[in-house]
Amino acid sequence: MQIAPTADGFTWTWVNCEDRLDLILWKIIYSAGELLTATVLSRLRECAADDCSFLFVDLSRNNRRCWCDMEDCGNRFKAKRHYERSKKKTV
Ligand SMILES: [Zn+2]
Repeated sequence: MQIAPTADGFTWTWVNCEDRLDLILWKIIYSAGELLTATVLSRLRECAADDCSFLFVDLSRNNRRCWCDMEDCGNRFKAKRHYERSKKKTV
């Protein structure tokens, strides 16, 4: 990796390693390191869905985000809750 200039500062870039098979592993390690050393670590959350263990950084205003993705896990939870509530009404 090396530091390269951008329009508004500097960034890390991967150099001469596009054909390396282990590049994806190094990118994952780099991302994990960035996350663990970030100031937002206190807002790191695990998705609340029973069948999902994705991690995300909760940047919501009230710091109460539950799902890794509202379109996926959040909607599945809402649909399941709606089904269970409507099932109780009919019983
Ligand atoms: Zn999820």
